[in-house]
Amino acid sequence: MPGDPFYKTKLWRALCAAVHRRSRGRCEVLGCTAQGKVVDHVLSRRNGGADTLANLRHLCRAHDNSIKERANGERANGGKLVVKGCDANGLPIDPSHAWFKAQS
Ligand SMILES: [Zn+2]
Repeated sequence: MPGDPFYKTKLWRALCAAVHRRSRGRCEVLGCTAQGKVVDHVLSRRNGGADTLANLRHLCRAHDNSIKERANGERANGGKLVVKGCDANGLPIDPSHAWFKAQS
């Protein structure tokens, strides 16, 4: 949430630096290769999400915008990231995708 004094702390800056190293500057949504622009809490701080690397991800502008936190604290699109080529559950749309062959 913008305006939260936490985002001005040394801890936050250190966490961001670690996320940038882990992502090598790229969006961490599977299948996305765009430049990472925003370090995002997977589970938001407002909802009790931890300030840990496991709860942080690097998002490109498009993926961040797709789940942007609104003023009321809820995320756009129910917080579901839209991944190119995948349905709302994150499964491949293409029935011939190798993922399905691996399941049978
Ligand atoms: Zn992305």
